[in-house]
Amino acid sequence: MKFSIAAIAALALSSSLSSTTTTTVSAFAPVAVRSNNGESESQSPAVRKNDKEVFSKHKRPTSFATKCASLYHPKPGAGRGLAPPVYFGSTFLLDDAAHGARLHEKREAPYTDDDGFVYSRWGSPTNEAAALQIAALEGVDDPFHKNGLGKCLLYNSGMSAITSALMAVLRSGDHAIFPFTVYGGTHEFAENFCKEWGIEVTYVDASGVNGPENYKKAFQSNTKVVYTETPANPTMRLTDLAGVGKVVDEHYGVAVDTVGSDANKRKRPWVMVDGTFATPYHQRVLDIDGIDVSIHSATKYLGGHSDILAGSVTSRSEPFLHGASKVQKLITVPLNPMDSFLLARGLRTLDVRMQRHGENAIKIARMLEAHPAVVSVFYPGLDSHPDRQMSDGIFKSGRDDGDDEEDFNQTYGGMVTWIMAGDDDVALQRAQNTCEHLRVINLAVSLGGVESLIEHPASMTHGMIPREQRMAGGLADGLIRLSVGLENARDLLDDLTNALDMCDDIPGSDVEDI
Ligand code: PLP
Repeated sequence: MKFSIAAIAALALSSSLSSTTTTTVSAFAPVAVRSNNGESESQSPAVRKNDKEVFSKHKRPTSFATKCASLYHPKPGAGRGLAPPVYFGSTFLLDDAAHGARLHEKREAPYTDDDGFVYSRWGSPTNEAAALQIAALEGVDDPFHKNGLGKCLLYNSGMSAITSALMAVLRSGDHAIFPFTVYGGTHEFAENFCKEWGIEVTYVDASGVNGPENYKKAFQSNTKVVYTETPANPTMRLTDLAGVGKVVDEHYGVAVDTVGSDANKRKRPWVMVDGTFATPYHQRVLDIDGIDVSIHSATKYLGGHSDILAGSVTSRSEPFLHGASKVQKLITVPLNPMDSFLLARGLRTLDVRMQRHGENAIKIARMLEAHPAVVSVFYPGLDSHPDRQMSDGIFKSGRDDGDDEEDFNQTYGGMVTWIMAGDDDVALQRAQNTCEHLRVINLAVSLGGVESLIEHPASMTHGMIPREQRMAGGLADGLIRLSVGLENARDLLDDLTNALDMCDDIPGSDVEDI
């Protein structure tokens, strides 16, 4: 005999809730609608059983096979371990059928409510613990903030965070604006998926004082996404986010999101920022008026140890979070428990790591500026940086509002890029030789880990962007990108100086047998 969910729920409830006389499930299995400020608006909260009550109805297994198939839970008190445990479960015990029905009726949202978890593709405890911490670091956990509370969603990579945010709001016939200089994977998604799905794409120069005006020129009535990446990978150019928020507000009006509305139906575009290079240590983009969504590849600085792939999406908008949660549930999958644990562990040292990255990076940037094999260096802490006038305002260096201005160490992140001297072919060869002469710094893509990593974007991470567009965004063939690690600065300076001195020598000729 087959039962529908509603029938099972009604059956269970009629026996367990004798005071309830209605016959429809929804009347006694309320849908908990999340409001924009994160409070649950459930109409009649159900009383959940405690864990002991739920487990106590199970018989103690006596046969060998059932003992094997059972899970044994530790005594209460395990939850007091200082570090949150890693919950690997894909599914969770339900109080009764009505509880299961209730959980399935909810509108998708990050974080569970008092009803608990149902199935880990819809959210799970270790993932949620890490997400709560990122939301706090992003500054959206402040109940007194004028724009209300926000929430974070964690995905299995930075790219799944980006694609989920875009898929949450874009539909065929819409228009999206991206910067010329954007992570290669984001560009690939815009070209190979957005365009294929009937979404118009425009690229603009997002950097410097003209960035906001350049976005404005690209506005259309069907523009649904205004996408930025700042600092830009790999050129280190900065976008004036307050300016972008302002032009969007002026053109389309200030965003008013209604709980329960459809994110795609909003008339004002969603302003999204990939702030991977800066992290919330420097840049809390959701404090800036007009910015809707903050995205990070948490694979990089947030995780910080080059041992996980992860991505975060944070917002204060309930309709957006609903859309992004739905994409997560159906397509892109939440960050798995083990990587969530590692991410949360990495976050605990973000503040000190970022400071050290920045202290090492400025020393390297200054050395590069003085080296004859280098034609230009891009580091926001150098006076020569084209967007230097914005950088002190952007790089908060871990300080909180109200902190004493003298009481912090101004740094500018750990990413340094530079262009080798010589015309295109010569600069390209020198860039590749330099990378191969290094003995402390590792030749590898990615960034933001404890160890220094160097790569050549034109042939690696950004090779998929057509050369003409790369050049328009300032990504020259001879550009090198360095993620400055936490090693001793002297070791890094010596290694890099030596490699630059040898940039015209064929790599390999200097390798000694050990
Ligand atoms: N955004 C930026 C700025 C990146 O540098 C990267 C990767 O290098 C990504 C997004 C994609 O992140 P992931 O590799 O975690 O998917």
